[in-house]
Amino acid sequence: MEWKIVWIPTPARFASFFTGLHEIGHIVVGHKGGDGKPEYLWEYEAFAWARKYCVEHNIPVPARTVNYEREIIAEKLRRSLENGMKSARLVVVEFIHQKKNGDPDVKWVWQNLDADGKLVR
Ligand SMILES: [Zn+2]
Repeated sequence: MEWKIVWIPTPARFASFFTGLHEIGHIVVGHKGGDGKPEYLWEYEAFAWARKYCVEHNIPVPARTVNYEREIIAEKLRRSLENGMKSARLVVVEFIHQKKNGDPDVKWVWQNLDADGKLVR
């Protein structure tokens, strides 16, 4: 058994509760350095685990929490694509495409990836 220490903030507000769940998600999904997954996928999978946990426990997730995660994931995805990655996991692209907000990275993903997750340039 391998031990890991993770910082879970005291959940005084929903955002910090969700952050704690997200960190647990990284552990449960089994993310570790050298697993070959790009960072954006780590963040999406941890987010998806946390959101699923909330759905299964009837805990409503505020839209602003989802939007915050979307912006972080879009930022990391954009960085991967700017560094030479040619396409992105479709489920992540679909998640980002679910909302158009004022965030520059979300907008960039909208403008640069097609519905198949391929770079349009
Ligand atoms: Zn994370």
